[in-house]
Amino acid sequence: MAKGLDKYLERANIVSGFGKNLARRSKSKCELCEATGVKLSVFEVLPSKEEPDYDRCIFLCDNCINLLKNIKKSKENDFRFLSGSMWSETPIVKATAIHILNEIKGKYSWAEELLENAYIEEHEKEILNTISFEVK
Ligand SMILES: [Zn+2]
Repeated sequence: MAKGLDKYLERANIVSGFGKNLARRSKSKCELCEATGVKLSVFEVLPSKEEPDYDRCIFLCDNCINLLKNIKKSKENDFRFLSGSMWSETPIVKATAIHILNEIKGKYSWAEELLENAYIEEHEKEILNTISFEVK
């Protein structure tokens, strides 16, 4: 029991340690919606790996974190900001944006139109294939 807790705390420590670098990478803007002046938290893109991985972490505002909890329940305009983040130079941010668009394109034609214009490189496709927010 104590061991499990230790592990959990250690992991939480490592992940929050990414915060400083993420603040620099994101220029203190939410990496999905670009909100500024709001609280930003380290978010591990799912499924999380056994060892926390900086390259799978994004810096997000509370609003985006809430939206990611239930992507399929989003309203039509909730994710409009992805038209910006789908061009992010940070692979995991871009892949997450494209992943979300893929999830909602059946519901909202604007998402499908954005995807038609998206340019996804091979290595970004590989990252994209590893993302899943579905709780199994
Ligand atoms: Zn945001």
